[in-house]
Amino acid sequence: MKIQEKIIKDEILEKLELGNFYKILNQNIFPLLNEEEQTFVKELEDFCLELAPKIDREKDVYVLFPKLGEHGYIQRMNKYKDFTPYGMKYEVLLGTILSICDPQLDLARLASGILCGNPTYQHGETSEISKVQADLMEGKGVGCIMITEPERGSDAVNMTTICEKADDGVIFNGEKVFTTNGPKADYFIGYGVYDVKDPRGTMVQAMFKK
Ligand SMILES: Cc1cc2nc3c(=O)[nH]c(=O)nc-3n(C[C@H](O)[C@H](O)[C@H](O)COP(=O)(O)OP(=O)(O)OC[C@H]3O[C@@H](n4cnc5c(N)ncnc54)[C@H](O)[C@@H]3O)c2cc1C
Repeated sequence: MKIQEKIIKDEILEKLELGNFYKILNQNIFPLLNEEEQTFVKELEDFCLELAPKIDREKDVYVLFPKLGEHGYIQRMNKYKDFTPYGMKYEVLLGTILSICDPQLDLARLASGILCGNPTYQHGETSEISKVQADLMEGKGVGCIMITEPERGSDAVNMTTICEKADDGVIFNGEKVFTTNGPKADYFIGYGVYDVKDPRGTMVQAMFKK
């Protein structure tokens, strides 16, 4: 038996490079995009083409977070500083283009910038929340979201993490699993319930520091 390790010829292999993937993507999506959106795509692809050769796959993706932060690429759903354009369409374009460059980096930034970052745009502008938001958006801090629990999995609205009111806030007690960025995170969005018999009616969301 001959064991064949290589199944793609060199002349094809050399064409499987990021620039060509982006050319194919652009041919397909540009007819759907206006001028501003096309400019955003081209700038982001240029950023990725410059970044890709410098990625050290031996290192955690988090070392690349500040580079994303410098260009406002931790997320593009909400407005942060002067990073425009922004909105859901730009966030989808960001996810599409960055995940072709480095899928692991894209999932990590999505968990940090969107799943953990979104609540910082929804709950007022206190100095504490603004500090967390800046840490996340600039890629200096890492965020995550804690929903999934053992024995629950997809049944994410029937949580067993119990919340109890205390004088200075709320105490969360429970166990979470499958938390993207969890081991490295500085900020944790956590979900729990006051009453396990009425999880939908008593759910609490809070942010924790490491
Ligand atoms: C890439 C990735 C990143 C993730 N990041 C996070 C994160 O950051 N934070 C977080 O909290 N979680 C995260 N998760 C976890 C994710 O939320 C769980 O994987 C999800 O909730 C599924 O749970 P489970 O794997 O235990 O599957 P299970 O719930 O055990 O489901 C197993 C199978 O049973 C099926 N099934 C489940 N319930 C039913 C039902 N009622 N009826 C019929 N079929 C059913 C499912 O479709 C599936 O095929 C992540 C998962 C992935 C894949």
